[in-house]
Amino acid sequence: MQKGILVVASGFSGAGKGTIMKKLMSEKGENYALSISATTRAPRPGEEHGREYFFLTTEEFEAMIERDELVEYAKYVSNYYGTPKAYVEEQLNAGKNVILEIEIQGALKIKEKFPETVLMFITAPSAEELKSRLVGRGTESQDVIDARMSRAYEESLGVENYDYLVINDDLDACVELVNDIILKERTKETEVHADNRVSANIEFINNMRKELLSFSKGV
Ligand code: ADP
Ligand code: 5GP
Repeated sequence: MQKGILVVASGFSGAGKGTIMKKLMSEKGENYALSISATTRAPRPGEEHGREYFFLTTEEFEAMIERDELVEYAKYVSNYYGTPKAYVEEQLNAGKNVILEIEIQGALKIKEKFPETVLMFITAPSAEELKSRLVGRGTESQDVIDARMSRAYEESLGVENYDYLVINDDLDACVELVNDIILKERTKETEVHADNRVSANIEFINNMRKELLSFSKGV
């Protein structure tokens, strides 16, 4: 059996990663395995242990680090997040394309360990839309929203490390695009989505950076 490929999907908080992955899994789930991370953050309403995340105490998380059970982990806005190793290996061997929905520090560690990994960065069409999605989700306090918008600016400085930039404007189109980028990467038809390469979108990225900077200053 042909091994699956490893895909990292990162993006600003509120860009729509969770929404895209949910839809991708429900529509094209036979091709994919979505890794479930461990985290020390509290569950949001509706989130379930073992479905969105494994919700752990700091002690439990640190014990996983000690036992070398994580492929990578990082701290993000004062909580730990990490990818359990066993599931990723098992699913790749079963021929599934494994998606890690993780932030940038973790993404770079994965690329270092597994250079073939496809790195995708997902963004909203503008900083204003990003903030309005974060606010509209209604799951974070104003302080956390502000911290996540500042973090978004910092993350924007690392977008050039990614292979693809995916703008989540129309959700259905975005899910189709994410699916097709992964399928074409698997068959090595990597030229098909040249327009979505980070290198083809530098102007958009620079503009987003400027907008995020003004938002993180509280404008
Ligand atoms: P992330 O996982 O990247 O933090 P979410 O998937 O939680 O983001 O999405 C943030 C908010 O934006 C949610 O309320 C979601 O319903 C909304 N959203 C996601 N994609 C779109 C889209 N294409 N257009 C408009 N709203 C969207
Ligand atoms: P949230 O709290 O919004 O669910 O996630 C916050 C950030 O942590 C997001 O950028 C998400 O992609 C990232 N994240 C989730 N799981 C992991 C993980 O296992 N490792 C790393 N490095 N980041 C993660």
